[in-house]
Amino acid sequence: MNPTSPTDFWDNLSAFSNPVPHDVLSALGALGVEVLRELSRPDSTEYLARCPAHLALTGKRDRRPSFSVNGTTGLFHCFSCGYAGPFIQLVEDSLGYHRVEAFQWIARHGVYRTVEDFGVAGDAEEAVRVTEASLALFTPPPANVCARRRLTPDACRDFGVLWNPEKRRWILPIRDPFTDELWGWQEKGRRFFRNYPTGVHKARTLFGDLAWSGEVALLLESPLDAVRAHGLGIGGAFASFGAHVSEAQMRLLKARCRYLILGLDNDQAGRTARDRVHDRWRPRGLPIKFLDYSHTTAKDLGDMSDADALAAYANAHHPWHRRR
Ligand SMILES: [Zn+2]
Repeated sequence: MNPTSPTDFWDNLSAFSNPVPHDVLSALGALGVEVLRELSRPDSTEYLARCPAHLALTGKRDRRPSFSVNGTTGLFHCFSCGYAGPFIQLVEDSLGYHRVEAFQWIARHGVYRTVEDFGVAGDAEEAVRVTEASLALFTPPPANVCARRRLTPDACRDFGVLWNPEKRRWILPIRDPFTDELWGWQEKGRRFFRNYPTGVHKARTLFGDLAWSGEVALLLESPLDAVRAHGLGIGGAFASFGAHVSEAQMRLLKARCRYLILGLDNDQAGRTARDRVHDRWRPRGLPIKFLDYSHTTAKDLGDMSDADALAAYANAHHPWHRRR
C-alpha cells in the first residue's frame, strides 16, 4: 500500500464515484430543498422543487418548481437556469462543503449506490453512445459564419469547433479532461441551445485546450467566447459552459495555471458566480483577477470589439479594486 493520507484516499474515492443518499427525498429535506411535487416513472421518481441556485444564478427566485431531482440517480437539473449535476454537487453547493465533506455527509445519510451501478457514463437517464463518428455529420464552420462572430477559422480548428450545416448551429465538443474522449457537445444556434446527450457531464470538464498549462488562464462562460479570446492571441482561454462553475472545473483550472482571470458574464448571474468562485478559491491558494468591464456595456467578451476585448483582459484587476 502507498502511504496515502486519509484525505487523498477520500478524495480519490469521491472523485471517482457518484454517491447518492439512501433516501433522496429526506436528504433533500436536510439540504433545505422542499419537494413540491413527485412524478412517478416506471423505474424511478422525479422530485420537483424550486431551484436552490436560481437566485444566485439569475437574480430572481424560481417561482415554478423548475428544479428536478431523480430519486434513483440523484442527478439534478433546473429546466430554467441550467444548474445541473450529480447529487454530491448539490450537497457541496447547499452546505458550502468541499468534495470530501460532501461525500462524508452523503455517507452519513446512507450511500446506496455509486457510479458503477449506472455504468461508466454515470447517467441512467439516457444511455446514448457518443463516439468520434457522431461528429461526422458536422463540418468546419464556414468563413462567413466565423466572421460574423469575429472568430478566426484557426481558433475554431484549435478548439475543435464544428458546424451543423443543416440546422446552421455551432457544435462545441465536450470532452473528458483526462483522456480527451468525446462525451457529447453543446449545440448552439439562433435562439436555440442544447447539450447532447441530455445530462452530459459538462460540469466535470472545461471547454478549451485541455493540454494547455501556463501562467495565466482565463475563464469565460461561453465556449464561443473562449474561441474568440484564443483568436485574439489570449492563451489559456477556457469556458465553463455557463455561469455555474463547478468544483471540478476549478480544480482543472488550478492544475493548469498560476493565476486565473475570471471573465464570467457582465450580468447579475455572472457577477454572483464570479464573487462566489473568488471567495471559495482565493483562500485555497489560487490568485484570481476579474476581467475588466468598466469601459464597456457588453455582456461578455464575445460582444466586444477586438480593442475592447484586449483591454478587458489587459486591465483585469484584483477584486478589492472592484470596478463595475
Ligand atoms: Zn434554476
